[in-house]
Amino acid sequence: MPVTRTILHVDMDAFFTSVEQRDQPELRGKPVVVGAPPDKRGVVAAASYEARKFGVHSAMPSRTAYRLCPQATFLRGDHAKYSRESERVMAILRQFTPLVEQVSVDEAYLDVTASLRLLGTGEQIAREIKRRIHETTRLTASVGVASNKFLAKLASDMRKPDGLMTITDTDKLDVLRPLPIGRIAGIGKKTEPMFHDLGIHTIGDLQQFPIKTLRARFGVWADEIKARALGEDDQPVEPYSEVKSISNETTFEEDVSEMRTLERAVRELADEVGRRLRAEGVRARTVQLKLRWSDFTTLTRRATLLEATDDEGRVAEVAIQLMQVELKEPRPVRLVGVGGQNLLRSPRQLELLDRSSNRRDELNRAADEVRARFGAKKLRRGGEL
Ligand SMILES: [Mg+2]
Repeated sequence: MPVTRTILHVDMDAFFTSVEQRDQPELRGKPVVVGAPPDKRGVVAAASYEARKFGVHSAMPSRTAYRLCPQATFLRGDHAKYSRESERVMAILRQFTPLVEQVSVDEAYLDVTASLRLLGTGEQIAREIKRRIHETTRLTASVGVASNKFLAKLASDMRKPDGLMTITDTDKLDVLRPLPIGRIAGIGKKTEPMFHDLGIHTIGDLQQFPIKTLRARFGVWADEIKARALGEDDQPVEPYSEVKSISNETTFEEDVSEMRTLERAVRELADEVGRRLRAEGVRARTVQLKLRWSDFTTLTRRATLLEATDDEGRVAEVAIQLMQVELKEPRPVRLVGVGGQNLLRSPRQLELLDRSSNRRDELNRAADEVRARFGAKKLRRGGEL
């Protein structure tokens, strides 16, 4: 018998907007949206609970959010501040176990199995984590406790905000039964209809469904899906990978202050960073920008992403945003560098069939092959010129 594990999933509540409401008391109890301005293209990064009541949610176009909730306060957000708060939270989590896997700026899994004898039950540890996070940051977190990552994440979502929920192995089948299949990671908008065609709507339907028919339809993925439906997930909690960071920099022959030239340099550097991230099989949770001025002073700026990436387009986009902040006033740049840090080893096998989320991956893989054959200079993305 394998050892029963105790896994926690800690998820900050409406993280970005909660930070803003903490720091700007006049925003408390009011709808707040962090993201693109409502009159610009772009999406909502986070919505306060007050805004969610109007149907506003993250990843929604800001224009739509404005239509649903015009009285909301729209903020660009301060990502350096959120990164700082995130680091304080992660430091608290590491007081309980070294096995902390940060999955986004405000979310992490902990394997506390080895800490139980010293620190109490999973639920006691969860309560203490919530207390310390609140004491240190004045922010609330929701924590799920279970025997694996899949169930722990479901649990943290069930009592939000400021929640604490345990799913025991005895309860798990009953808890899962009524939930829609979309709650299983990897079953998305594109793959859901394939299950509906088979008459599978809830996780309970999936629990009952014969594995042979599933295999015929979904191949190797079937067993993984079936295991999730039964509340099984043996994926380990993985702290950062051995590779610490991947970066790339270039020194200009003559100092450059023109933004377009700098942006082009950042994109070229990001291309290489993306290629190496994929070659290592890792995703970066943090993007770093390095700038050296003509007087040789150097600055680095970092941003932590909501979701780790190995996509050069995303790396470039974030690095350029960081650069635009530093270069509001044009200033001659001698060297520019782009890097990915906080690397996470992350095979996305569960999303293999969800083509929407994998189209970029496929494009990038195809691009890597072309580059390997013809050299990097041959290939430039459309829209870059
Ligand atoms: Mg959260």
